[in-house]
Amino acid sequence: MEIRRGIPVSPGIAIGEAFVLDSEDSPITRRVIEEHGIRAELDRFSAACDQAIAEIFESVKKLPKSLHGEVAPIIESHAKILQDKSLQLQITSGIEKNRHNAEYEVSRVFRSFVKRLQATGNQMFENRVVDLLDIERRLIRNLLNEKRSEIATRGKDLIIIAHDLTPSQTLALDKEKVIGFATDAGGPTSHTAILAKAMEIPAVVGLESITSAISGGDVLIIDGTEGTIIVDPDEDTLKNYRALERNRLSYEQRITLELRDLPARTLDGHEVRLLANIEFPEEVKLALQHGASGIGLYRSEFLFLRPGPPPAEREHLEAYRKSLSLLGDRDLTVRTLDLGADKLESDGPTKEKNPFLGCRGIRLCLQRPDLFRPQLRALLRASAYGDIRIMFPMVSSLEEIRSARAVVEQIKHELRREGAPFNDHVKIGIMVEVPSAALLADILVRESDFFSIGTNDLVQYTMAVDRANERIAALFQPAAPAVLRLVKYVIEEGERSKKPVCMCGEMSGDVTYTLLLLGLGLKEFSMSPPSIADVKMVIRSVTMKEAREIAHKALTFTEAGKVVEFLRERTRKIIPEAF
Ligand code: PEP
Ligand code: MG
Repeated sequence: MEIRRGIPVSPGIAIGEAFVLDSEDSPITRRVIEEHGIRAELDRFSAACDQAIAEIFESVKKLPKSLHGEVAPIIESHAKILQDKSLQLQITSGIEKNRHNAEYEVSRVFRSFVKRLQATGNQMFENRVVDLLDIERRLIRNLLNEKRSEIATRGKDLIIIAHDLTPSQTLALDKEKVIGFATDAGGPTSHTAILAKAMEIPAVVGLESITSAISGGDVLIIDGTEGTIIVDPDEDTLKNYRALERNRLSYEQRITLELRDLPARTLDGHEVRLLANIEFPEEVKLALQHGASGIGLYRSEFLFLRPGPPPAEREHLEAYRKSLSLLGDRDLTVRTLDLGADKLESDGPTKEKNPFLGCRGIRLCLQRPDLFRPQLRALLRASAYGDIRIMFPMVSSLEEIRSARAVVEQIKHELRREGAPFNDHVKIGIMVEVPSAALLADILVRESDFFSIGTNDLVQYTMAVDRANERIAALFQPAAPAVLRLVKYVIEEGERSKKPVCMCGEMSGDVTYTLLLLGLGLKEFSMSPPSIADVKMVIRSVTMKEAREIAHKALTFTEAGKVVEFLRERTRKIIPEAF
């Protein structure tokens, strides 16, 4: 039995069998193939190679005419490399002689070429190295896709072990079979962590080397509350964890049921709104079961993460109308596309060196009217059916709000001409998640109907801490005094202009910060549905006077750790079982 510690990102306990997903960035594991399995391994390699060549020719066909002359020869040269007989022979003889799995031999042969080219120190070979790594990745992806589909043939209760999972990979997991996951990489607010929480699957990230420590088929316990993973547990440990999970579930169910229909009102009568963050229309039901008063953040980019072309206006409209009909007269705030290389498997033309500082959020929306306009048309058309609000992500300047609003006005004009009904007064707000936006809150508030503070990104950009990097996860601190000053300022400016301010980052659903945010004057909290009951319990157990006094004191600390210590101590005094 072995215990490993990582970052807890989605609570609960899962007991199951490991299913190890290699990823293109992780070390490929070496497996020794049985004598009788060599033929099948050679066939796998040859199928992956054929598929890669077919994909290359397919992508050449799809190139716009203007790029054909320049780009097609580069892509086609990749196919030529794959067709090279001596290269194929090196890989197949490795499989035959060494009895290694195909991924391992592909990686070994390609990496040895790369090493040789790099050793020459010749700059001219730099592009060649990039090409070789690209081809290697394509081949391995094809080999692993085949392996991923093995999930379909496996039994239930699988725990996915991966180097990292992109949101699109997480979504592709079979939810009937996957009961938990653990990754080497990732931080507390990485998008995969957020998804795990929304899917109510226990997850631990940032385990650093879990993929090399675990083999497929190992029995595992994942404790997503404590952030531990237990490999090969003994009988007593299994029994204890099963009991722990039963207790946790019955506690959660009890408080959710008890509190669901009660208002989020302090002991002295101040009421706030608790809303839910969702990624799919189907989650509205879950949100309502947990007592959400509306949807404060619909991450619409997940509409774009399924395979196939980007969603058309009709598909957007269907999703928004479906959510509105499930919500009745409750409000739905839809964030326009916040896609960037951080949410995609970075590959091909979307690859950016620094995706978090790249073309994401409103920047991408403004550069890609082909994606943005159908979404806005659908949002406006949906506004005829319910209380829908439009929110722009990653705003960093007033110009961006103006440009985005101008597109909305053009579309309103079109819809009027077409005679399509819409709400002319639909509310348009922004995410405040870039420090420049927070610092300009007094100016941006004049052209926004509401603010929603996205602390996941606000912490990342204020502290210069990549939210998905496990090596610096300890530096990702929502309680950092610099962040708290920004949050306070945004809430105050909203209050001054009588514009609603919500918070939809993970900080909002973490009970450590409930008293602080309440005391700072936050009136709308949006969070993953399972957190609603816990936050409501804290709010219903305190007076506003007390919360203000706590917030005031918290702001006097000069270190994040001290703030957290103080807030936890005060919360524990009010609700002893809080932590
Ligand atoms: C945030 O940044 O806090 C936020 C809610 O947006 P996302 O996590 O989707 O980037
Ligand atoms: Mg964000």
